[in-house]
Amino acid sequence: MTDLNIHEPDNLTEAFALLSQASDTARPLGGGTALMLMMKAQLYKPSALISLAKVDPRFHGVEMSADASSFSIGAMTTFAELEHHMDIGLHLPVIAQTMVTLANPRVRNVATVGGNLAHADPHLDLPPVWSSLDADISVVGPQGVRRFPVIDLFAGYYETTLRTGELIMRLHVPVLPGWRRRYVKVTTRSAHDWPAIGLAIGVRMEEARCADLRLILSAATDRPTRLLQAESILRGRTIDDDLLAAAGKAAAEEVHIETDSRGSSDYKSHLLSVHLKRALHDLCE
Ligand SMILES: Cc1cc2nc3c(=O)[nH]c(=O)nc-3n(C[C@H](O)[C@H](O)[C@H](O)COP(=O)(O)OP(=O)(O)OC[C@H]3O[C@@H](n4cnc5c(N)ncnc54)[C@H](O)[C@@H]3O)c2cc1C
Repeated sequence: MTDLNIHEPDNLTEAFALLSQASDTARPLGGGTALMLMMKAQLYKPSALISLAKVDPRFHGVEMSADASSFSIGAMTTFAELEHHMDIGLHLPVIAQTMVTLANPRVRNVATVGGNLAHADPHLDLPPVWSSLDADISVVGPQGVRRFPVIDLFAGYYETTLRTGELIMRLHVPVLPGWRRRYVKVTTRSAHDWPAIGLAIGVRMEEARCADLRLILSAATDRPTRLLQAESILRGRTIDDDLLAAAGKAAAEEVHIETDSRGSSDYKSHLLSVHLKRALHDLCE
């Protein structure tokens, strides 16, 4: 059995030092829900877990800008805090909608925004939603802070573009007026199961015309993936059934869809075109 040390540094310098002492086997600790499962399955055998609870105040808190045009969310914010936050409920209702079928209250009470993003499992529900909201993240490392779009964090199955020693510090989410949003979690077993496909959709309508939109697919691909072809078919056009069918077909053709225990590639392609069409039909009405 290997020893596991749990550290709770009270500043970033100490956290970076602890992480670099055992860069292969030390892991940052958010809520621990994904780490514990992977350790139990013996996929990880970390020598040290570095809690981010006290490293820096910037890892905590939900702030709304004075004009309500954006939110800034600390990486250590739990899902339960997001789910019950009154301003997020008012301005970003798609978050509470996504939480309804995300795990269970025990997980949501401890799982964190940063741990969820860094885990980079393509089946997770929130990453495609943040991506469809055009959110950015700030990451901090020994070389300083950098900020980039959430969608650029994901590099493949459980892989991110974080550099060695970097930590996710905050999430920045714009609130864009006039956008209608939805997350569609298509499960083949219970509603709370891992999705066969996840679809995060944002649409801005001008009368019957789709002025702009974001379509992000997850679970069927190795990372949250923007459906650019399908978007371009719909952008600027008046929505009707033929156009929605063409967009659904384009979506299924433009990405490589993975076969897994939730369904074959063909089956998921079919789910994608059907659910995209259905959700857009509702949102665009
Ligand atoms: C029973 C159960 C059911 C679940 N069901 C669902 C579901 O229906 N839908 C869904 O989307 N998810 C589901 N999940 C997954 C859950 O969302 C993730 O486990 C959770 O989001 C991970 O967050 P965490 O804070 O616990 O991460 P942790 O376990 O603490 O960390 C995960 C990874 O991120 C790293 N890390 C943590 N914080 C940071 C940071 N700030 N910067 C850089 N790296 C960091 C860790 O080192 C680790 O590699 C379920 C989990 C469980 C246990």
